Amino acid sequence: MINLSQYEAWFVTGSQHLYGPDTLNRVAENAQKIAAALDHSKAIPVGVAFKPVCTTPDAIYRLCQEANASERCIGLITWMHTFSPAKMWINGLKVLQKPMLHLHTQFNRDIPWSEIDMDFMNLNQSAHGGREFGFINTRMDINRKVVVGHWQDEKVQERAGTWTRVAAAWRDMQGMKVARLGDNMREVAVTEGNKVSAQIQFGFSVNGYGLGDLTKVVDEVVDVEIDRLVKEYQDSYELSKTLRPGGEQHASLREAARIEIGLRTFLESGGFTAFTDTFENLHGLAQLPGIAVQRLMADGYGFGAEGDWKTAALVRCMKVMGAGLPGGNSFMEDYTYHFYPGNHQVLGSHMLEICPSIASGKPSCEIHPLGIGGKADPVRLVFNSAGGPALNAALIDLGNRFRLLVNTVEAVEPEQALPKLPVARVLWKPQPDLQTAAAAWIHAGGAHHTCYSQSLRPEFMEDFSEIANIEYVLIDENTSIHRLRQELRWNSVYYRI
Ligand code: MN
Repeated sequence: MINLSQYEAWFVTGSQHLYGPDTLNRVAENAQKIAAALDHSKAIPVGVAFKPVCTTPDAIYRLCQEANASERCIGLITWMHTFSPAKMWINGLKVLQKPMLHLHTQFNRDIPWSEIDMDFMNLNQSAHGGREFGFINTRMDINRKVVVGHWQDEKVQERAGTWTRVAAAWRDMQGMKVARLGDNMREVAVTEGNKVSAQIQFGFSVNGYGLGDLTKVVDEVVDVEIDRLVKEYQDSYELSKTLRPGGEQHASLREAARIEIGLRTFLESGGFTAFTDTFENLHGLAQLPGIAVQRLMADGYGFGAEGDWKTAALVRCMKVMGAGLPGGNSFMEDYTYHFYPGNHQVLGSHMLEICPSIASGKPSCEIHPLGIGGKADPVRLVFNSAGGPALNAALIDLGNRFRLLVNTVEAVEPEQALPKLPVARVLWKPQPDLQTAAAAWIHAGGAHHTCYSQSLRPEFMEDFSEIANIEYVLIDENTSIHRLRQELRWNSVYYRI
């Protein structure tokens, strides 16, 4: 359900008429070569479309208006081949509503030492042309990403590719519909927030539905569909003995399949790409959706438990950013600690709803009592997750602004078996260490719900914050509590001015 190739970034080159038609033809030729190289780059999952070189205020204004109106266009990649007097850009930039990447590159990689003359100098002026363009963006307070380096450099293409993934996720978020099945878990604070502010800031809508709207669809699911999905469960997972055909809890597996089909139908027919549920509001459902939510997440849906619509939208957003990359993205919760001296770890999990996109090996499909919620035992997928670099991200509503909080972690394989733990889980070591990371997270007001990502680096999250124009706080290997608390205080002043 996520297809990044439907999108394109527009490659926009700035110049001026001062140099005559020959130079402008060369500018256009070179720009087409760069656009084609980025279009074909493996690091860039969206199309890159060359646009005619901009040399007048009117052309720039028209192009920005066209970009705003284009369904496919996720943003502009701008490049100043020559000097391009930046007052020409003011009217266009004033109306531009799409994200921007300023690619500060030049066509040639090396200075042609023995050949260089004033004709070459006139044609290749990015070094100062890009500064003139940078000034007007800063003067107009325009959020953008700046990537510096030669366009053939893999790292430059990767950084541009990261931005295109984020811009595509931003495009996906404009008009995203989050379905809220049941309200917030009673008395919980951090999962609440201002849905109107969120829609203005991020472009996604959050609307509530009664459980009856869902159970009506669940009740209409026919046996032949359940047969087909149960077969798929059998083929995809290690099924517990009692859940297998003939087993004493096989009926529970069929009920779980019914819930999955009903939930999927409900989401598809409503055009939703993210959703929440709440174990306190399950009227009419036999089980809390477990395997259903897990598999829907694996198919690209965002999810937040206990009515957590911010995390649901964030999970969807990060799944779009990470589409096609190695590693998964999942709803997550910091659950319990391992305070063994010298080997501090966090065990992340949830009651049920961890996405199998982060599973190592074939998940097992099991049924266990839940302990809370007062419903029948829910079916769930149980698995471990691989070691390696990852991050946790949380979106919180501070009343006057949203803050995106990110902590880089090193996931580790469980050192021992966890034979009695009936849920999917991940173990990680937060950076720089558990004491600092958890204290920093708590000072920053970070939620207990996060999106856990194996596929995304902090650069993605920073690019997203820039595009969404929200506060970004990173806890990583360089974090000290003293500096972080200062940063939080400075930020709070910035956002109150
Ligand atoms: Mn929770």
